[in-house]
Amino acid sequence: MDKMITIGKSVYMETYAQFPLVLNRGSGRYVFDTQNKKYLDMVAGIAVNILGYGDPLLSEKLKSVVEDGLLHCSNFYWNPYAIAAAEKLSRLSGMERVFFCNSGTEANEAAIKLVRKYGSTQDPAKTDIITMEHSFHGRTYGSMTATGQPKYQGAFKPLVPGFSYAQFNDYESVKELVTSRTCAIFIEVVQGEGGVIPADPKFLKQVRELCNQHDILLVFDEVQCGLGRTGYSFAWQISNVKPDVMTLAKALGAGVPIGALVATGKAAQVFTPGDHAATFGGNLLASAAANCVLDRLADPTFLPHVTTVANRIRSALSKLQQTYVQLTEIRGIGLMVGVEMSIPVRPIIEACMEAGLLIASAGPNVLRFVPPLTITEEEIDTAMAILADVLAQLLS
Ligand SMILES: *Cc1c(COP(=O)(O)O)cnc(C)c1O
Repeated sequence: MDKMITIGKSVYMETYAQFPLVLNRGSGRYVFDTQNKKYLDMVAGIAVNILGYGDPLLSEKLKSVVEDGLLHCSNFYWNPYAIAAAEKLSRLSGMERVFFCNSGTEANEAAIKLVRKYGSTQDPAKTDIITMEHSFHGRTYGSMTATGQPKYQGAFKPLVPGFSYAQFNDYESVKELVTSRTCAIFIEVVQGEGGVIPADPKFLKQVRELCNQHDILLVFDEVQCGLGRTGYSFAWQISNVKPDVMTLAKALGAGVPIGALVATGKAAQVFTPGDHAATFGGNLLASAAANCVLDRLADPTFLPHVTTVANRIRSALSKLQQTYVQLTEIRGIGLMVGVEMSIPVRPIIEACMEAGLLIASAGPNVLRFVPPLTITEEEIDTAMAILADVLAQLLS
């Protein structure tokens, strides 16, 4: 394993501060390294692998696409899996139209183009976009500019013009930024990278109303919080504040890369042929995976399970909070859980890894739990027991 990592370090661009772990296999909610050590996985490839590992339906479906030989055919032609996935997504969201791409970043880039076309066809100056501080929308120029965190933008200026940043969950700060040039407001319904912070339903309602008044498109980035993670198909369903545009990716292919832009009403009519495209977007392999995910979300037992196991992790964490003052806040919805700590979390994450448990962070002081949605109550108990041991070692 060390030898492989040495090679990796010599040939990878140094964009990631990777843990010294080489993973090559998964089963259920466990991943295995090349020395066959197993890890209970509460990272799920960053909220991607919602069906865990080796899901029989997903595996069978992908095998059958591979056996048929056609993984990709371009968007010159229709393919049955993309049509079915778009129809399922539309039914699940109540939003009419879907554009498939390959990632969250790309979905947000598409959203930026859509809202700018929408605004500028009314008034050429109506191209400004408001996003939230501490948001995360991606790493390419538009989506990085939309991201309200200077740490992602620092060395890469100049940024894309026309963006301003309001304070998340502060309606007045949004209202103050709105002008006749504003075409859209972008919000993550639960901020992920920014520290696992849910939007206040009242805030969402007020922003929706503001958008209606000024003919501004409301865009929800559900790339991380969407597709069942909160116990709802989409996090906006909790507050019942419906966006005009929604972006999806991470969980949509349960590990096969696929993203989507979804739009309703006037926003669904904006793009015309030639406006936007993606070579790989909605190819057969990725769309077949998306069909499996969307079928699972439509299964009436799937989302209640998320809420059941989410309650279990929450009560275990609350118990730990009673023992350790360093756990300052437990946040999140469903199986998108953040624990704010008064100390850096990296040593905790490393000790858990050593003990066979993978946990992510969301900034230096927040532990982030985004396990496969198929995780069982027993597995939650196992994970929480390992965490309790680690905290006892490090904090007592
Ligand atoms: C991960 C993420 C993105 C970017 O997605 P990529 O697939 O990495 O491009 C965008 N928005 C949110 C909310 C995310 O969590």
